[in-house]
Amino acid sequence: MKIFSNFESGNIHVVSADNPQDIQLTIPADNQTDISQWFHFRLETDAHQPHHFTISELATSAYPEGWPDYDVVASYDREEWFRIPAQFDGNALSFDIIPEHESMYFAYFAPYSYDRHQDLLHGAQTHPACRLETLGHTLDNNDISLLTIGEPSPEKKNIWIIGRQHPGETMAEWFIEGLVLRLLDETDTVGRSLLDKVVIHVVPNMNPDGSIRGHLRTNGVGVNLNREWQTPSMDRSPEVFLVRERMLEVGVDMFLDIHGDEAIPYNFVAGSEGTPSYNARIAHLENHFKQALLTITPEFQDDIGYDKDEPGKANLTVGSNWVGEQFKCLSYTVEMPFKDHISHADELYGWSPERSVTFGHDMLAAVWATVSEL
Ligand code: ZN
Repeated sequence: MKIFSNFESGNIHVVSADNPQDIQLTIPADNQTDISQWFHFRLETDAHQPHHFTISELATSAYPEGWPDYDVVASYDREEWFRIPAQFDGNALSFDIIPEHESMYFAYFAPYSYDRHQDLLHGAQTHPACRLETLGHTLDNNDISLLTIGEPSPEKKNIWIIGRQHPGETMAEWFIEGLVLRLLDETDTVGRSLLDKVVIHVVPNMNPDGSIRGHLRTNGVGVNLNREWQTPSMDRSPEVFLVRERMLEVGVDMFLDIHGDEAIPYNFVAGSEGTPSYNARIAHLENHFKQALLTITPEFQDDIGYDKDEPGKANLTVGSNWVGEQFKCLSYTVEMPFKDHISHADELYGWSPERSVTFGHDMLAAVWATVSEL
């Protein structure tokens, strides 16, 4: 029996793997941090034999509250990612599996590979209204890639959609794939009509370094990009610095920053109500957008989410708060669960890549429903 993590986004520490009935693992932290949560590894073993896994030291993981009611994600073919029921005792997550084949993968959530990321970018650029551009490079020398979708014009609004500031939140890029494919679908009137009115700037992966390294939350040098928006630098956070420069150049009329939440088993949005310039106009836009989304899909709800910031108390280093304040625009952080969306629970798959894709697809219709109000 062997356990591997020597591949893109692989991350696990093997404490002991001599006995299939007692495999002991821990999760290494993101580089230069004490933040641990993302795991991704491959088991090679005798099929049809019982295996018992324990991942320990989770009381000191980044989000201990992420483990109760969390079920492990696994795959034999790297296409279908199903759930394995797990138990959490306050410090250790344990689960049992009788593998059907000799090799299988386990992950915190279905990975979104760098190859698939490139497929998304290059598939999109074949659309006549889409331009692919490299804004610059990360500290690990990966591309910071931007899709500009729609013919730029001074009369058009500018919408920005970014994902994976937190690289382990892979559901964000699945979501963006769904949204971009709908936007570029020539047979879909929502996408075509939107592009008559707006230009959509998409950064599907803000953090390729962390994605490739197998991080949950930080870039290659341990920086949480979603706390860099007030004072980004080329030394620490070129990802934010370069995207922010382009935003300041072209403007922002609406911003969606796509994330996953470790603890909360619901889809929800977090607005910019705590920013100094929040006002009735932004509140109206937020309500309009949320009402549209509630009408379009039962995968969205607005009862459970983060506590709202007190007026004037927003943390302006956070992307959606900085953008909301800087551009006085509708600005949302969108959160999807690592666990399941429990008002529509799915025992076999939980919240999944497929549901993330569909949610992105549906959210484009909410953007369409809101555009005339911007
Ligand atoms: Zn996040």
